[in-house]
Amino acid sequence: MAGLPRYRFLLCDLDNTLYPPASGVMSGVGRLISRYMVERVGIPPADVDALKREYYERYGATMCGLMIHYGIDPEDYLAYVHNLPLGQYIGPNPDLDAMLASIPLRKAVFTNSDREHAGRVLDTLDVRHHFERIIDVRDFGFYPKPHQSAYLRTLEILKAGADECFIVEDAAPNLAPAKAIGMVTVLVPHSTAQPPETLAGRIAMMPVDHPRAGMGVRISAGDKSVFVGVKNDLRMDMIRDWRRPRYTYESGKIAFGDFETNGDFLFASLTGGRLDYTIVNLTKALYKGNALVDVREGFFGLAFDASPDQSGKGKLRYWRDSVEVGR
Ligand SMILES: [Mg+2]
Repeated sequence: MAGLPRYRFLLCDLDNTLYPPASGVMSGVGRLISRYMVERVGIPPADVDALKREYYERYGATMCGLMIHYGIDPEDYLAYVHNLPLGQYIGPNPDLDAMLASIPLRKAVFTNSDREHAGRVLDTLDVRHHFERIIDVRDFGFYPKPHQSAYLRTLEILKAGADECFIVEDAAPNLAPAKAIGMVTVLVPHSTAQPPETLAGRIAMMPVDHPRAGMGVRISAGDKSVFVGVKNDLRMDMIRDWRRPRYTYESGKIAFGDFETNGDFLFASLTGGRLDYTIVNLTKALYKGNALVDVREGFFGLAFDASPDQSGKGKLRYWRDSVEVGR
């Protein structure tokens, strides 16, 4: 069954992933965490913010730091900090419901919170029926993401291989261990105040002259644009000759927006008038009709079929450069 996708699972983070930060849920949880540290643990209010930051960076979660340094009871902590009237912050989300329904994968929530909080969030959003399982911080023995044990335990529970899983997260540090073991990682790209629609608007498909042969994406961020182009058919420039296959630019070229190349992968960024680019496996590349690189003819000898030496263009494995192209 070669060629069929092998992916079977979608692992979704919960907080700030299935609902946006602007909802205020996590700010509410954050306030309860601060109050817990003062009232239950006896930490001076002036030290709370710095300790929360330190524990988050060192252990992945404040709770973990409080367990290690103050010996708190994690169950007491989890019940306290998640005691929020969720309905005041979030509500049913039919768009999320439809999006989850359109993804043909088994789904599980993979969260550093506890399953009671996760269940309440899913019920409030009205999307619980999509998830066959909530894998929570108890399942990790209270060692949360990004501890690698949390990811391995999750795979064990689901009886899944890492390379069968997509993971969706709002916290980039929690994706690094997932990537290291072979999961496909998806970062939900929003800051606390920015609605995701404005970010989605910065991403556009580039026009491609052979739509079946490749695709290109342009991402804009301030005065910087990033371009990614990929060819589908990595052999389209191979021509059958009477003697042997050979490669031609004309048959292998593809245009992604202002770029044209016979390379297999294109990555470029344009800031002001400066274009930085890397192109893989090419003989030639153009930007707005001007040559960025054009390999010169070389002389090839010692052919396997003992045919006479001949000249031609050899492909570069990759070409990387930075040029001024004007605005
Ligand atoms: Mg999160």
